[in-house]
Amino acid sequence: MRLVRFEAQGTVSYGIYIGDIVHPIAGDPFGELVTTGEPVPTADIRLVAPVAPSKVVAVGLNYRDHAAELGLGIPDEPILFIKASNTVVGPGASVVYPRQSERVDYEGELAVVIGEETRSVPAEKALSKVLGYTASLDMTARDLQAKDGQWTRAKNFDTFCPLGPWVVTDISPDDLAIELRLNGELRQSSRTSQMIFTVSELISFTSSVMTLYPGDVIMTGTPSGVGEVKPGDSLDAYIEGIGTLSTRIVEAGEVAS
Ligand code: ZN
Repeated sequence: MRLVRFEAQGTVSYGIYIGDIVHPIAGDPFGELVTTGEPVPTADIRLVAPVAPSKVVAVGLNYRDHAAELGLGIPDEPILFIKASNTVVGPGASVVYPRQSERVDYEGELAVVIGEETRSVPAEKALSKVLGYTASLDMTARDLQAKDGQWTRAKNFDTFCPLGPWVVTDISPDDLAIELRLNGELRQSSRTSQMIFTVSELISFTSSVMTLYPGDVIMTGTPSGVGEVKPGDSLDAYIEGIGTLSTRIVEAGEVAS
């Protein structure tokens, strides 16, 4: 099942996306799903980020091929950082290239959406806390990441966390193809089976540090092939079983779509 969040006539709602029709649901998708109101054609709505997380937790280095590419060892524990809620934008929304940076990189990532309040869950039960999975981009001002020595500024410019296009509830995250295209050209291509820490392990580890709330997102790291973007570029992050999240990079001051 594909869960979406959408805007129609100034109102944002959750819905179930089937074919070219969205069936609105009452409230949010974190309890029982109850459809309500008239189904709407997708042509009449605008998809926004599929959830509105209280926090997005991301992981520093989590693919074996990316560690090898960087000449880095395998970490003993996940390196966690936060992307604040201001960074989140939906499918098709633009990423604004900040004036303060001269080097912005893409990182295509599988994102996990938490379905219920979760604290200190063991890895073997962690997937039962998941609502579903979506695609994401961990945009990073690489020059500022190096300059600051910590990552808050580099990872948290407005629009630096595109999410979407929807949350898929019925896939296993353990061995999915993950690809990123820059201006249509394949730059990242791997499988989630290359992860150093599995999705279950990441949820367990993160929830032993901080309580996860419904709608919170865990970004699971990026494979090899990370690279630079410039204003005008387009990015397409594809994950098998989910689909493609597309965005375009715009100059600060340009009107974001
Ligand atoms: Zn990342």
